[in-house]
Amino acid sequence: MVQKGPKRDLSIQKGPKDRLSRRFSVALYTRILSNGETCDREWLVYSKELDRVFCFCCKLLRKGHLRSQLANEGLSDWSHVGTRLKDHETSADHITNMASWYDMRLRFDNNQTIDKVAHREIEKEKEHWRKVLFRIILIAKFLAKHNLAIRGTNSKLYQDSNGNFLGMVEMMVEFDPVIQEHVQRITNDDIHTHYLDHGIQNEVIDLLAASIRSEIIRKIMESKYFLVILDCTPDISHQEQMSLIIRYVDISSDSICIEESFLGFLDINDTTGQGLFDVLQNELKNLDLDIDNVRGQGYDNGSNMKGKNIGVQKKVLEINPRAFYSACGCHSLNLALCDMAKSCGKAKDFFGIIQRIYTIFAKSTKRW
Ligand SMILES: [Zn+2]
Repeated sequence: MVQKGPKRDLSIQKGPKDRLSRRFSVALYTRILSNGETCDREWLVYSKELDRVFCFCCKLLRKGHLRSQLANEGLSDWSHVGTRLKDHETSADHITNMASWYDMRLRFDNNQTIDKVAHREIEKEKEHWRKVLFRIILIAKFLAKHNLAIRGTNSKLYQDSNGNFLGMVEMMVEFDPVIQEHVQRITNDDIHTHYLDHGIQNEVIDLLAASIRSEIIRKIMESKYFLVILDCTPDISHQEQMSLIIRYVDISSDSICIEESFLGFLDINDTTGQGLFDVLQNELKNLDLDIDNVRGQGYDNGSNMKGKNIGVQKKVLEINPRAFYSACGCHSLNLALCDMAKSCGKAKDFFGIIQRIYTIFAKSTKRW
């Protein structure tokens, strides 16, 4: 903390008003000297959660008891905050603490603290954990990219059926000194925070997904116009889900091409046209995509979807008449195939049919 200093959230310009309509203002960070010069009150921190200001160095480095609220529970007397801050910054205690803060920070930077050996150890430890996390992220990324299941039925290292993730960790132990040390610490019970459990795996996957999604959104925004393709299906727990696919022209590289990107499943509680439309509209808003830039919509044949009067199609057209509807051809094919599979019992016949349909479509010049 001494090295990094207080963290100041500059997005907060003003705090909430108190009963006298006084409040915190970002202007308090600046001290105006008697000669008119201004300087930054580097030590002042505002807590949004508590709606109070604190003195960073007095809070951190005070010896014994200090009377000032700034060094204890924080100051929220916005009516007198100006004088209080002035009193505090000229007080002997504050100046001493300020000096030791600056001094200590300087010594940290020059590596001259009396605990520099311990400090070097901490740095080494930090570096080690950074390397461990880097490897964990790489493993999750590899498995996700190749569509491999992450977990097995067991979640312990060196046990049967513990899944691909732990399996890869075990594999890396064979050659990678960082993971070697990490696993050794786990098996010796030196550490209990091992970053290998499902919570961390999920978190890493979520982070990767978020960064991929923002990359896709960036591409969509670059090409401006896009189509939405929706389809609903209940999942195993009978929760209705809607898959959202965006079709757009990818102009981010030299070879311009049409992309269809799956952006996720949306939970549906209301399966009427209005309900589905609300979910779609909200999601587009969440993704920062403008519904006015939709230039096409593709759904299956459900009346709540493509319905001319109450379907999602109609609702989107009401807002944006340029969002032309086209039937989801691939989806019809999918439905047809499913029905065929049902009617013909043998799997062999089924694949024969698929093959024939494929040749018919391959010869056709129409796009489907
Ligand atoms: Zn202070």
